[in-house]
Amino acid sequence: MLKLEDTYRHKGQRNALVNLLRQKGIKNEAVLDAINTLPRHFFFDTALDSHAYEDKAFPIGEGQTISQPFTVAFQSELLDVRHGDKILEIGTGSGYQATILHLLGGTVHSIEYQIKLYEKTKKFLTKLAIPIHFYHGDGSQGLPSQAPYDKIIVTAGAPVVPNALLHQLKIGGILVIPVGDRKSQKMMKLTKKTEKQIIQESFDNFAFVPLLGADGWKTNR
Ligand code: SAM
Repeated sequence: MLKLEDTYRHKGQRNALVNLLRQKGIKNEAVLDAINTLPRHFFFDTALDSHAYEDKAFPIGEGQTISQPFTVAFQSELLDVRHGDKILEIGTGSGYQATILHLLGGTVHSIEYQIKLYEKTKKFLTKLAIPIHFYHGDGSQGLPSQAPYDKIIVTAGAPVVPNALLHQLKIGGILVIPVGDRKSQKMMKLTKKTEKQIIQESFDNFAFVPLLGADGWKTNR
């Protein structure tokens, strides 16, 4: 059962979370505003509701997690979302990151591998009238039917940068993806300057659940 009431207590907790994210180095005011606007507790099961504004990842079922707010903010900042950007998110999960990208002005296409999470999140966000396009499938291959994209964000840890994602990016587009082993991944930002020239930047280490599928890990552990 989801609790969809936003209260002064929740708003205060959200404000405190945003201040913490600022202290941790997030500078993009649009990203901070989106986090301050969106009730993260809506995306939690009632039992965990009181933890929704801690800067932590939490279980959302099917062995998956809603990412830590700092991670959502960091990836969103790197993605540099512009109004009208066509964005592919790989790993819908709870739908929280996808909704933040929508609030930032993106047209969001989000693909999820786990059928139960896909169904649950699609139903929930459709009920809230949040206009995200949902797909079920292996996002390690991108989503060719809707390509090309201005931005692609991967919210699960990948063993390599899948070639399909670079192919599906427009010239000038940005791919943000955590790459590494199963325990720790380096956050990467790849900017497609031309068909052949990709600028690659790497940032701190994060710990994501594994990206599964053809260009991901073969098993969950
Ligand atoms: N973005 C999510 C949110 O805001 O709640 C959190 C994502 S969770 C850390 C990672 C998600 O990636 C999980 O829901 C997992 O099932 C999904 N995933 C893993 N491999 C995938 C793949 N190949 N294609 C699509 N989704 C995948």
